[in-house]
Amino acid sequence: MPLASSGPASAGSPPCRVADVPAAAPLRVAVLGSTGSIGTNTLDVIAASEGRFVPWLLAARRSVGPLVEQAWRFRPAWVVVVDPAAAGELGATSLPPGTRLAIGPDALDELVADPANDRVVSAIVGAAGLRSTWAAVAAGRTVALANKETLVMAGPLVMRLAAATGATIIPVDSEHSAIHQALTAGRPAEVARLWLTASGGPFRTRPRDTLADVTPAEALRHPTWSMGPKITVDSATMMNKALELIEARWLFDMPAEKLGVLVHPQSLVHSLVEFVDGSVIAQLSPPDMRLPIQYALSLPERRPGPARRFDFTERLHFDFEPPDPERFPALDLGFVAAARGGTAGAVLNAANEEAVQAFLGGRFRFTDIAEVCRRVLDEHPFVADPDLDDVRRLDAWARQEVSSWQCVS
Ligand code: NAD
Ligand code: MG
Repeated sequence: MPLASSGPASAGSPPCRVADVPAAAPLRVAVLGSTGSIGTNTLDVIAASEGRFVPWLLAARRSVGPLVEQAWRFRPAWVVVVDPAAAGELGATSLPPGTRLAIGPDALDELVADPANDRVVSAIVGAAGLRSTWAAVAAGRTVALANKETLVMAGPLVMRLAAATGATIIPVDSEHSAIHQALTAGRPAEVARLWLTASGGPFRTRPRDTLADVTPAEALRHPTWSMGPKITVDSATMMNKALELIEARWLFDMPAEKLGVLVHPQSLVHSLVEFVDGSVIAQLSPPDMRLPIQYALSLPERRPGPARRFDFTERLHFDFEPPDPERFPALDLGFVAAARGGTAGAVLNAANEEAVQAFLGGRFRFTDIAEVCRRVLDEHPFVADPDLDDVRRLDAWARQEVSSWQCVS
């Protein structure tokens, strides 16, 4: 089974100090998207690991300045600049001795497949992340998967590939990390429902009739999480939860009717697994992506790390409420696409990526995002059992469709 299904080796044993963790060779990590939100949090985890994790490769699209700074600080074997035009900014002496430069997506595909890396952190944003994740899975690597789009677009294909190559996929998305941890309390057949929690974003209580007037600046202000801009807008529409439902569908091989969403504004309970006997097992921690990243790097170990911890001397509140489907129409699209499978996820993801850009650029209103995604999803020439070419073709088709809309409402 491609998912690391066993619990952490230390589960059930008392908390341990660093010295108690059995000595092991440093784990060499390839960080794809190292300059982004997940990428920089990954480097925080690596820096705090006292040599347990070492960066082997750092890759970004075109943020050459931050990439060079990271290279001098972490001294990886490889730096990859994916956009060849941006690589021109790198002078001959920009990188530290011992760090080699590779340029372009083909070079990245080749390097992620290299057995010299022990874990690939897939943290490129958007559909662009599918390609290098695919290369890593095809080569049987262990992938710490933040790029949810990989499974949203091509979940069955990627999971089949992982089963064939022996690749392991460990989720980084906090909800899926929580479920991965909670699932160790029972067997897959004993699961009644996977409950994904959602903060509800900045507009959970905003009057519904004002949602069309939401500005990009308002949508980019998340109440509990600090993330890259695209996923922050997705959290405001709850499209992020829609994409996460599809991600959970394939990652855990769970039918859509066994998936649910709960709004939990404090973002302290990261998801829950309800078993057939009515027992509900949850994973809790302050909202800090460094914890699920570290879990995905260190599995099957648990280690002390830099993530914030609870202070149980303070009063804590845990509120849960059902999501409001009228306020968050995007959510239903996730259930629809998870149930339909085929090319539905790829089309929804591509339409949403384009619609978010159109919103941030002022062409769409906030409420247009879900509306245009629904129309494109409804109208798309569905393929039930696609190959990767079908996925790419319909991704391009959906983007084209969205670009033909000026403004829906
Ligand atoms: P971000 O925008 O902060 O960073 C994106 C990174 O990807 C940058 O390093 C950028 O250079 C790189 N990149 C972009 N396009 C690329 C391309 N074509 N080729 C190579 N590199 C490219 O994004 P983020 O918020 O860190 O999100 C990364 C992924 O993790 C997304 O799929 C997101 O859904 C997922 N995720 C993020 C969070 C979070 O807290 N930020 C939580 C859960 C899941
Ligand atoms: Mg998430």
